[in-house]
Amino acid sequence: MSQFWSDIVKELQPYVPGEQPKEGQFIKLNSNESPFPPSPHAVALMEKALHGSLALYPDAEATPVREAVAQYYAIEPQQVFVGNGSDEVLAHIFHGLFCHQGKHILFPSITYSFYPVYAKLYQVAYREVPLAVDYSIDLNPYLQANSEEVSAIIFANPNAPTGIALSLSQIEQLLNAQPNILIVVDEAYVDFGAETAVALIAKYPNLLVTQTLSKSRSLAGIRVGFAFGQASLIEALIRVKNSFNSYPIDRIAQAGAIGAFEDEAYFNQTRQMIIDSRTYLSQAVQQMGFEVLPSSTNFIFMRHSQLEAAQLAFSLREKGILVRHFKQKPIEQFLRVTIGTQKNCEKLVNALCEIVSKGM
Ligand code: PMP
Repeated sequence: MSQFWSDIVKELQPYVPGEQPKEGQFIKLNSNESPFPPSPHAVALMEKALHGSLALYPDAEATPVREAVAQYYAIEPQQVFVGNGSDEVLAHIFHGLFCHQGKHILFPSITYSFYPVYAKLYQVAYREVPLAVDYSIDLNPYLQANSEEVSAIIFANPNAPTGIALSLSQIEQLLNAQPNILIVVDEAYVDFGAETAVALIAKYPNLLVTQTLSKSRSLAGIRVGFAFGQASLIEALIRVKNSFNSYPIDRIAQAGAIGAFEDEAYFNQTRQMIIDSRTYLSQAVQQMGFEVLPSSTNFIFMRHSQLEAAQLAFSLREKGILVRHFKQKPIEQFLRVTIGTQKNCEKLVNALCEIVSKGM
């Protein structure tokens, strides 16, 4: 049979998400989900939506969601774009905003591994910029980039899977240095200790910030993400989206998103519990000889000088705990561990203690 798909599709190596086991009782510390359920208020609004008008298409502009989020960040609804998880928002950005004939985009060599996947899918030329020796993002190559050659720069802040954040003043330094390059800051993990750049959109027309409800708002299951930027950039994204799917997120997701932003107390309480457990887990594993990179996220990135990371992940799996190991150099010796409930962090510490004391 002749193959009728294109060479581009044949070459694609899609993003591989963290394992979602279908069987067995695992403690899941491998895909940076929240260990807590969504806000009860958000759930109540979703239940109401479930019994509402599901036979009808949702609000095509997602206006109530954009209004709620705009109010939360003290910006305008026209400065908010809504998509099916920030993955979809990022896909629209790569597809619609990054493609410039003869130019390329820049991103760190170690960052969210979906960026090279989108770049290949949408045929966006890209160059990867190595991290600094301490695994932080080295700003200099981005500050020196030539806007005749570079159309856009994208990075996660805090970065993933390292967990290290740039400060807001470093981001502003980049924006000042590069007024003619589109700067996209992926803030999937920003709520766990970094500073959001959303307020900077008023001053910098070349800034887009993306966020998600999947992490700090415990709503990975309903797939809601955002982009924030000046109205003209958001309008461009809406055109891309409407050329693909004329409706944004469904009615249930719209209700859940509004509820999540209305329940600030629950948001603060759950993210603080994650930050506290992160402190506990970081200290406990350091006492066992692990090096832990400074984390501003809901995960830690750690390595042991004597124990091999792939083997560690395997041994933990055998004890019913899933963590994430990336084979990519130079991070092949690290494990990325999502912060679970305090109880599950303690179970992880006990399991690691046994593994480390036996030398695996
Ligand atoms: N950006 C980064 C850095 C991430 O780690 C993730 C989660 N895998 C996303 C974006 C996408 O998150 P979601 O599609 O669930 O909003």
